[in-house]
Amino acid sequence: MWVVPESEIAGLMTPEAAFDAVEAVFAAMARGEARNFPVVREAIGHEDALYGFKGGFDASGLTLGLKAGGYWPNNQKHGLINHQSTVFLFDPDTGRVSAAVGGNLLTALRTAAASAVSSKYLAPKGAKVLGMIGAGHQSAFQMCAAVRFGSFEKVIGWNPHPEMLSRLADTAAELGLPFEAVDLPQLGAEADVIISITSAFEPLLMDGHVQGPTHIAAMGTDTKGKQELDPALVARARLFTDEVAQSLSIGEFQHAAAQKTISAQDVTAIGQVIIGNHAGRGDAEVTIFDGTGVGLQDLAVASAVVELAKQQGKATRVEI
Ligand code: NAD
Repeated sequence: MWVVPESEIAGLMTPEAAFDAVEAVFAAMARGEARNFPVVREAIGHEDALYGFKGGFDASGLTLGLKAGGYWPNNQKHGLINHQSTVFLFDPDTGRVSAAVGGNLLTALRTAAASAVSSKYLAPKGAKVLGMIGAGHQSAFQMCAAVRFGSFEKVIGWNPHPEMLSRLADTAAELGLPFEAVDLPQLGAEADVIISITSAFEPLLMDGHVQGPTHIAAMGTDTKGKQELDPALVARARLFTDEVAQSLSIGEFQHAAAQKTISAQDVTAIGQVIIGNHAGRGDAEVTIFDGTGVGLQDLAVASAVVELAKQQGKATRVEI
């Protein structure tokens, strides 16, 4: 098997490779060639940790495997970040393990790629203003990917903890774009594309905030109970996601679904737009992409990085 350690990922994986891998696997899911397996996520009763697996098989890319890991809230005492994961790939012809890949940075890159892919297909024409809600670790990756694959001229941002906003200002500066901290009504009125990436359990962006043609990538909600958007905003928008069942159970759309203002028929897998089966934005004023994060995204970027590592002599071969 090949081993690609976490320390090599930054030098190997590019945002372009992550974007292409995620776009391709969303398309494979829509064609019925790739499927995610049921997610396991358990509180293990030790170190307050949440541990789980997200796996799947992409028959078009011949990628089989799982991401194992989770959230260890006390990791600071070990000098480690709280999110820890490793991707394991298997040879679909034999079942033998083929690679172990550090999954921490890959998770950030594949999540950023998903919102950028959604913007490519759903953003209003001529989108110039990017609105960021959230200023944590993941927000910088989301902003970088959006800017790299869009044509934004300005970033505006809001965060429930204003002391964290410097991360957005610094990231925008690195990207050569002006940044302005705003309140949510201004953000909703001015932004053409909004990315929300918080750990909120209450709606932050309300229906009345969002004005004019807008695409929203709701990326923070990946667990039951989390919530970033007003269900009334969800109810009036055209809805897209990575995987419909996951969106309605643990994604942002769980709340509107529970209120019965939307149902599965109202939500389209983004892959259907990518493969040309769905028109996408059409005449909708507001589109929302609910990025819940699926295992196939992890496998796609891990498989891409193994190939890059092999080409560049950065992968180590071990017998198991
Ligand atoms: P982080 O801990 O670095 O930052 C947390 C962010 O949420 C900050 O903006 C903070 O101000 C805000 N926040 C914290 N507690 C809050 C609360 N109670 N109410 C409202 N806002 C709150 O986390 P991160 O790595 O930036 O990740 C942000 C979110 O994205 C997390 O919820 C994480 O689980 C989720 N996530 C989703 C995916 C996906 O594929 N959809 C992938 C990675 C992370």
